Amino acid sequence: MRRILVAGNWKLNGSKASIQKLVTDIVAGAENLTNVSIAVCAPYVYLPFTAELLTKSAIGLGAQDVSEQDSGAYTGEVSAPMLLEACCKYVIVGHSERRAIFGEQDADTARKFAAARKQGLIPILCLGESLAEREAGTTEAVVARQLDAVLELEGVHALNDAVIAYEPVWAIGTGKTASPEQAQAVHAFIRQRLAALDVAVAAKVQILYGGSVKGSNAAELFAMQDIDGGLIGGASLDAQEFLAICQAGQNQRD
Ligand code: PEP
Repeated sequence: MRRILVAGNWKLNGSKASIQKLVTDIVAGAENLTNVSIAVCAPYVYLPFTAELLTKSAIGLGAQDVSEQDSGAYTGEVSAPMLLEACCKYVIVGHSERRAIFGEQDADTARKFAAARKQGLIPILCLGESLAEREAGTTEAVVARQLDAVLELEGVHALNDAVIAYEPVWAIGTGKTASPEQAQAVHAFIRQRLAALDVAVAAKVQILYGGSVKGSNAAELFAMQDIDGGLIGGASLDAQEFLAICQAGQNQRD
């Protein structure tokens, strides 16, 4: 059985004071949650501070983006070797905000995925359609295109050391969650696409759902066959809400 992973994405939020309180509360509340994997993805500048707060905890640290380059004249970029030195285990790649606001293309995401994996970081590869794409009936085509960019560059076995997050753009930060059935249908599609290339990889890879997950809806989402946890934005900034989602993951595996 695949383990549930609940990963928080703090986005461009937090200060030393707020992170200190948030992480201290999450660490204390997660002490007995041993059947669920938990991670928090912090802004670059707070990674070392967050790593320090997580020292005695099993909670993993992640970044929210990474350069496709390891080093060089790329002002403002942060590389995978640097993230490794900052104690990261995970890095989000291809978040819909990077794609929509910063113009990241499928091929850029694939190169970031490759750069992360080369250093032994676990990429959390985000896939998902916009509302217009869903309404046009192209959800599967969009998700397939985004996934295939990574498969073409890295091959299916790369997914042995990665996590996928299906995040319908229309459900991110909008309060509109995909129904468990809507999410499950896309998760199953992703897994079947991988299974066509390698059954073992498809069976192993964790596919998270992201999009307005809260303590009140996590259980019904995590109960679906192909949903292996969540990538959590807004609710990850509230320790009690985030812990309620982690508890839903734990209950699913108890
Ligand atoms: C996200 O940004 O990855 C996300 C899922 O956000 P939210 O939970 O706020 O919808």
